[in-house]
Amino acid sequence: MLILALNSGSSSIKYRLLRMPDGTTLAGGLVEGIGESTGRCTCRRHDDGAEAPSSRTLSIADHRQGLALIFDGLGALPGQGLAVGHRVVHGGSLFDAAALIDDRVTAQIAALQSLAPLHNPPNLLGIQACRALWPQVPQVAVFDTAFHQTLPPHAYHYALPRRLCDEQGVRRYGFHGISVQSALQRAAAHLGKAPEHTNLIVLHLGNGASVTAIQAGRSVDTSMGMTPLAGLMMGSRCGDVDPGLLLHLLQQGELDADGLADLLTRRSGFNGVCGDNDLRRILARAEQGDAAAQLALDMYAHQIKKYIGAYCAVLGRVDALVFTGGIGENAAPVRAAALQGLEMLGMALDARKNAAASAELRAIHAASSRVEVLVIPADEEREVAEQTYRLVTTVSCC
Ligand code: ADP
Repeated sequence: MLILALNSGSSSIKYRLLRMPDGTTLAGGLVEGIGESTGRCTCRRHDDGAEAPSSRTLSIADHRQGLALIFDGLGALPGQGLAVGHRVVHGGSLFDAAALIDDRVTAQIAALQSLAPLHNPPNLLGIQACRALWPQVPQVAVFDTAFHQTLPPHAYHYALPRRLCDEQGVRRYGFHGISVQSALQRAAAHLGKAPEHTNLIVLHLGNGASVTAIQAGRSVDTSMGMTPLAGLMMGSRCGDVDPGLLLHLLQQGELDADGLADLLTRRSGFNGVCGDNDLRRILARAEQGDAAAQLALDMYAHQIKKYIGAYCAVLGRVDALVFTGGIGENAAPVRAAALQGLEMLGMALDARKNAAASAELRAIHAASSRVEVLVIPADEEREVAEQTYRLVTTVSCC
């Protein structure tokens, strides 16, 4: 069976075509600049021996045209034995697992737009365009929030009037669940344990960043909240701030709600502290003695360390600490700074292993470390494809 895993953002669609159940990647690529005059469509086929991806620049009006370009690039795909998996950011409390898409599920995803106004609308555009182009092909929604639906009430409630949760869905949902689920499967296999017996702290550190505590294979706490703004500081998102300061800014009349949204989502995080959101450049600047870049890195390491301490307390036993995401996988100085002084929690890095670059799962802890420290490359498309395959084959069996 072929699974096309799609990640539709506001102006781009990332995709990967995999053959299941063996998981071989046949092709992958990116359509970017949707809605702009100079879009780009990049496709790399892994089955024709071509080393370099093919790429062309053109105007791409909308998601439907973007998907048509993807299908063109993939060549003739069989209508039979094909399914499409869509990454959907917010499933609210409605979805605790992947769902086969029909009119009802599409309407439910649309109804959740108010909880994720930046993310769900483009996810939905991808779904609608695909259903229009390929009405006979099964489509599956795989949610970033679903894995965190196991959070216990004491972890997902905010200390606000209960009515806000009951009537408006104001609660912690958590995100990056697709990545965290993938990390759990791979970490458990590496540890030789069943996922349901595995306790982990997973640090997904990319442009967005979150920390998740996993107990017996279930998410029991996570740093992002009702929206993906909460928790760790991120590339351009603020992470946790005192809610009183938001009131202060509104009351001073400097910002309205849109201005506040822009401040918290685009002008904060690394961007706010040092004027850049690319960690490679920030590391290079800090190396040159740039104080603002160093401050941003120190803040980041301090925040990660606090979450690790807190989640050790929540979990009691930690089998492994997992770094994933662009920063988690590649930024050895961030890992070193975050874990510095955590020997008392049974965590110690091997400096040489930490510094070695690799695209594979690897252990980077010292022999003395009680907790394994793993680097696991994020592979959200593969997880989307696997969940899609499992659901489609289960449904067609029953
Ligand atoms: P997204 O959340 O958009 O998927 P990624 O997971 O790709 O983001 O992470 C992007 C971040 O990873 C950027 O800050 C980038 O600078 C950082 N990054 C990527 N490669 C490296 C590297 N070799 N060293 C340090 N940071 C890196």
